[in-house]
Amino acid sequence: MGALGVLGSFGLTGCAPSGDTAAGGSGAGEGTSESYDAVIIGAGGAGLSAAIAAYDKGLTNIVILEKMAVNGGNTNFSSSGMNASETKFQKEQGIEDSNDLFAQETLDGGHNTGDPELVQFMCDNSAGAIDWLDSLGIKLDNITLTGGMSVKRCHRPTDGSAVGLTLVPGLVAAAEERGIPTKMSCEAKELVKDGDAVTGVKVDLDGKDTTINAKAVILATGGLGANAEMVTKYRPDLEGYVTTNQPGATGDGYTMAEDAGAELVQMEQIQIHPTVEQETSTLIAEGVRGGGAILVNSEGNRFFDEMSTRDKVSAAELEQPGGFAWCVFDQQVYDANTAIAKYEKSGLVQKGGSVAELAEAIEVDAAALQATIDAYNAITTDGAADEFGRTEGCIAFAEGAMYAIKVAPGIHHEMGGVKINEKCEALDASGNPIAGLYAAGEVTGGIHGDNRIGGNAVCDIIVFGKNVGEVVADALA
Ligand code: ADP
Repeated sequence: MGALGVLGSFGLTGCAPSGDTAAGGSGAGEGTSESYDAVIIGAGGAGLSAAIAAYDKGLTNIVILEKMAVNGGNTNFSSSGMNASETKFQKEQGIEDSNDLFAQETLDGGHNTGDPELVQFMCDNSAGAIDWLDSLGIKLDNITLTGGMSVKRCHRPTDGSAVGLTLVPGLVAAAEERGIPTKMSCEAKELVKDGDAVTGVKVDLDGKDTTINAKAVILATGGLGANAEMVTKYRPDLEGYVTTNQPGATGDGYTMAEDAGAELVQMEQIQIHPTVEQETSTLIAEGVRGGGAILVNSEGNRFFDEMSTRDKVSAAELEQPGGFAWCVFDQQVYDANTAIAKYEKSGLVQKGGSVAELAEAIEVDAAALQATIDAYNAITTDGAADEFGRTEGCIAFAEGAMYAIKVAPGIHHEMGGVKINEKCEALDASGNPIAGLYAAGEVTGGIHGDNRIGGNAVCDIIVFGKNVGEVVADALA
């Protein structure tokens, strides 16, 4: 999808050794080796942040490995925004928020199964991460709501567009400016250990087995949503679900970390997202609902609080006839979310000049749909209590053009993963750090618990990605 804007813009050299490389080994077809201070596996949001932050702290002999021919990973598809509290942009816009409220709502959203210390760390460092991105030219000052938050704290690009499409090119440009080498189409296969310490990684480099030696290995390999076998290993009930994940999200990091002695936690916590267009696996951004859209079933009726958490909305959708819903919205919502024009270009959006015309287009009873919209409007205009308990993002539908996208749940995010501490050190089953091994981003686990709030993944990958880069730079200084 939108990743196309950055394809090939970074690390074009395939797997050719970088200028920083101390290459050794033998000729073509045989194993070679290279050495760096730190190797970062994965060029998504977490890996790019880690590399930039490490570099800016003086750790310049580093390399990023990316198994795909394109960088950005699932971060390219991040649609909602980045949650953050006590930010300068919230203050400028008169939004009152606190790190503690953010932490509380994150823990509540995960039914108190998340890691309170890591959550607090993430929230306390979120405003700093927003400032850091701003300093890199990535301004996220358009703030909205996603399900499970009581205060506007989901930070988006100024024009309200999908955050990934600003974030990835911005991080790529920052890495490029610093001359940080990236080896594209370069797949990490196995971590190398010397005794208990991780000392490098074996990679497939242009068809050759190569060992990258490093004093620190940072795993930033993202999730497993594109590996159906691994998904069903942890969650047999998710067999047959579509996935929103890019093809490189095959869970390699979990296998490599586990083989190196790291503990994996909460791997069964695979989040499904309630608004995925099923033919193309396109994720319909949560900001669409946050901006006022409703979900109706095939009978034209609402059935749940659209702003509730993803697990509950998904479960409610699956109980509807056919197990799907229509995400219905008006021109105001369309105009406030630039992603919708892209969905329309891809043929995902049904349209009508009125409620009746839309109803005809989506084969839903027109009177029922009109009654549903009238009742929803009454919450927003008369202050009537919503029968489904929605209190957030209630904005009355205006007359005129109406839109709908057919959605159902899809596999979205692995919330479990490598157990880490606040320093992003990978921990073994006894809670001891594995020397030389660090992790950040989706590959880590236990932060969000059994349900992640929309917009918290970007906060997680930027806060912990930046953090791990700084921690490793300090450790090797
Ligand atoms: P995060 O949000 O945690 O940064 P992403 O999905 O955005 O995660 O990025 C993870 C990146 O790691 C993806 O670009 C993916 O292709 C890459 N990756 C996954 N496994 C490997 C591997 N074995 N070797 C190199 N890169 C990998």
